[in-house]
Amino acid sequence: MENMKCPVCSSDKIMPNLRIRDRFDMHQGEDLEVVIARNPNAIVFKGLHREALRATVCGECGNVGLSVENPKGLWRTYTEVNS
Ligand SMILES: [Zn+2]
Repeated sequence: MENMKCPVCSSDKIMPNLRIRDRFDMHQGEDLEVVIARNPNAIVFKGLHREALRATVCGECGNVGLSVENPKGLWRTYTEVNS
């Protein structure tokens, strides 16, 4: 992850691949996810494809960029559903 620069302030103080947690009570919470339903009209078995969000944060200005770990798999599911 060298040579990464912030798109806002051009700092190289980039922290990639940080986890993003939902926060509830005193528990740890869960990773926020992007979700695509393969069978959106099903009542129970929607066939959810889940991809955890990861954040890349600039240690200078605080700019945050989001990404998923498996974009190609998510795209495969997306094209299956939207074809
Ligand atoms: Zn920045």
